[in-house]
Amino acid sequence: MLNFTVGPVMCSDEVRAIGGEQVPYFRTPEFSEVMFENEELMLKFAKAPEGSKVAFMTNSATGSMEAVVVNCFDASDKVLVIDGGSFGHRFVELCEIYEISHTVLNLNQGQKLTRERLYEYNRQGFTGLLVNIDETSTGVLYDSEMIGEFCRENNIFYVCDCVSAFLADFFDMAHCGADVMITGSQKALACPPGVSIIILAPSAVERVTSRKVRSMYFNLMDVLKNMERGQTPFTPAVGILRQINIRLKEIEAVGGADAEIARVAAQAEDFRFKIKNLPFEFVSESPANGVTSVHPINADAYNIFETLKDEYGIWICPNGGSLKHTVFRVGHIGYLTHYDNTVLVDALKDMLEWGFI
Ligand SMILES: *Cc1c(COP(=O)(O)O)cnc(C)c1O
Repeated sequence: MLNFTVGPVMCSDEVRAIGGEQVPYFRTPEFSEVMFENEELMLKFAKAPEGSKVAFMTNSATGSMEAVVVNCFDASDKVLVIDGGSFGHRFVELCEIYEISHTVLNLNQGQKLTRERLYEYNRQGFTGLLVNIDETSTGVLYDSEMIGEFCRENNIFYVCDCVSAFLADFFDMAHCGADVMITGSQKALACPPGVSIIILAPSAVERVTSRKVRSMYFNLMDVLKNMERGQTPFTPAVGILRQINIRLKEIEAVGGADAEIARVAAQAEDFRFKIKNLPFEFVSESPANGVTSVHPINADAYNIFETLKDEYGIWICPNGGSLKHTVFRVGHIGYLTHYDNTVLVDALKDMLEWGFI
């Protein structure tokens, strides 16, 4: 199997080997040590400001989006949500469920967020902003620095969903001034799904420890208190946290986050170059490194996904909703090489020859 989806993605052999081991008991100094190492490297790779804390959550990244919304906002807030696709829309739904007053900045699918559009919302009393830095449904990358400047000027609590952007696109949490960043184990971290990570800047730590949250599992104050001893309130996905440990050390050994981001960027560039002469169009106005959204001009996007899966053993990522038949996505994260791109592009060329594209 060759997997070009945006998660779960291909894992390194070392990460896979851990998956085959027995899962150890975790209320031990040994496991706490693993958690402290994970915390240290996560803070380093996200370029988190001094005094930031990490919450390792056993849930998919949507659970962490929910945890952040319930811990950081309440009825007294007025939140701006950037909604340019299905992940942005998920934040809108969370605000609706928890009855948090919000305004939606709608973007068309594939459209980038310009300064002009953002500053339409300047000085309007917003207290929070929710954004997916890479809107993975179309692979649009938003400018975390520009949004950070807007938030600083407006004194807005700034939440970055970096689920697919972390380790794939440039992100400097301290410099852009994000209060919270969220990521997940199954995207560029290239581990199995099941763990999501929330980094809280000191401003966010203060916020979650001073507010009352109506949730037991998603009580971030409780999570942070346990993390002081390298532990979690409840049984975490121990095996995946051990795999994350190996993976973070692998990245550190070959140059850290910047080197990994450069590797993913080169993987994306190689793919985009190799499909230049195929009857495809790019969808995103400001493409993220982690994924390329492709519109096949003469063929059904979902058929291409199915044919690659069934006839070639290659997985790309189909789109849902209104884009199901017009757009497919190719991921550049995980344990992939330029040669793997060639295998995929050769399969696409083969399909073109047979009249399927
Ligand atoms: C994948 C993804 C999520 C949600 O991930 P789950 O782990 O499926 O809950 C959230 N936001 C973005 C930007 C993503 O790419």
